[in-house]
Amino acid sequence: MVKKEEVKQEKDQKGITADKELSKSVHQSAKDQKGITADKDDFSEWFAELMIKADLADYTDVSGCIVFKPSSYEIWQKIQVLVDERFKKLGVRNSYFPLFIPEKYLNKEKEHVEGFSPEVAWVEKAGDTKLGERLAVRPTSETIMYPSYSKWIRSWRDLPLRYNQWNNVVRWEFKHPVPFFRTREFLWNELHTVCATEKESIAEGKMVIDAYNDVTENYMGLYGVYGRKTDREKFAGGVFSEKVHYIMANGKVLEGCPFHHDGQNFAKAYDIKFLDENGKEQYGWQNTYAISTRMLGVMFAIHSDEKGLIIPPKMALNSVVIVPILFENTKDKVLKVCDELVKELKSFNAFVDKRENISVGFKFNEWELKGMPIRIEIGPKDLEKNQVVVVRRDTFKKEFVKISDVKKFVEKSLDEIQRGLFVKSKEIFLSKLADANSLEELKKVIENKKVGLVPLCKQESCEEVLKAETKGAKALWIDNKKVKSEKCIICGKKADYFVYAGKSY
Ligand SMILES: [Zn+2]
Repeated sequence: MVKKEEVKQEKDQKGITADKELSKSVHQSAKDQKGITADKDDFSEWFAELMIKADLADYTDVSGCIVFKPSSYEIWQKIQVLVDERFKKLGVRNSYFPLFIPEKYLNKEKEHVEGFSPEVAWVEKAGDTKLGERLAVRPTSETIMYPSYSKWIRSWRDLPLRYNQWNNVVRWEFKHPVPFFRTREFLWNELHTVCATEKESIAEGKMVIDAYNDVTENYMGLYGVYGRKTDREKFAGGVFSEKVHYIMANGKVLEGCPFHHDGQNFAKAYDIKFLDENGKEQYGWQNTYAISTRMLGVMFAIHSDEKGLIIPPKMALNSVVIVPILFENTKDKVLKVCDELVKELKSFNAFVDKRENISVGFKFNEWELKGMPIRIEIGPKDLEKNQVVVVRRDTFKKEFVKISDVKKFVEKSLDEIQRGLFVKSKEIFLSKLADANSLEELKKVIENKKVGLVPLCKQESCEEVLKAETKGAKALWIDNKKVKSEKCIICGKKADYFVYAGKSY
């Protein structure tokens, strides 16, 4: 008989080999720079290839973890700034709690610990000395933050308390890793709040969701729908969970930005009490919220195409690359105009690709692969006509533009790209929704690469059957819309709600 640990160990080893082989093969094919060879339908392969070729991430010998290269990490920093600006307006304060959680803290909320314990990484030794108490590497920080909250919160005057952390968490998963989507260590914000009343706590949920939506829609160009999870899919230990859902052209759903309403569950487990205005002792009402590096993955996956990455201009580190077409006798003249243009296009972080001994065609491919929103080409013939060539990454539309009009034209084009990406993601999303009155209909909907709205009851066993029958589709979010049938598609009893079901990553 093989013990559980041995099976896990074996899986772990396979994980390492898989990462390494993928990394090697992708690096080899990256040399030819010819767009993405994997089919977008084979999501994890396509996405992993895109990440390596577009220079966003890489692997190391640590299985299941990735390197965030500057071109992805610096976008993450942009997200942090945008979220922080919005959080400040809501009175959120940034803080930092220990990475390590004493075992006794972790065990206080029963459902929570059951939900996370299979993935917790433990520190048991320091050097050769065994620790008196094991320390968990945080999978999430409720259990280390709330004992402090219990100490700090005394009266209604201390509320609402809104402490946020930008940190890393570790969840030792054994599924095949996918950069940004499923890695054992990832980065996020975790905002943990305490309100005096349930009403205030729920109202706060809407404000924070609005803040996230502002960033994901207006900057990351993503159309998504926030929806409540079924109990089977909710956060371990919470009352209800909501997440935002995005749909790719292949009908697969990507989730992000969780909001968990914890009611008084954790407050009771961790003794977070306060004296209300009447001097009566009350438990606090709690919420948690997160945006993680998974959202980078969502943004890259939703917008990109077979040629490579597409990044919304507002999130791009540089929005314009100028590629000079150089010949010996006109080189100085062309480069001079390039430098002038860089100054003029400073607000878009424009730069000149002056690398020599690399063909212009290679440069074009490389910037397409890396998702540069706009490419400007300048050669001696263009200069004679006082014009440049401007090419958009999203549509590959090529236009001749007078040098004096370039700034205006670029500004307008970037705006169009930004809005266009959002509109496209919305069109794809809406085109992927379908009704299904029965399990058979749902199976067809999923075969057609869509997401189906079905009547479902609250029994978790029905969700499990749904998953098995559809080869992996799950209940994604509860919606206000209805279909004709009101009977649970699995057990036939009266449905409790209408749920969108589909496959997700
Ligand atoms: Zn049922």
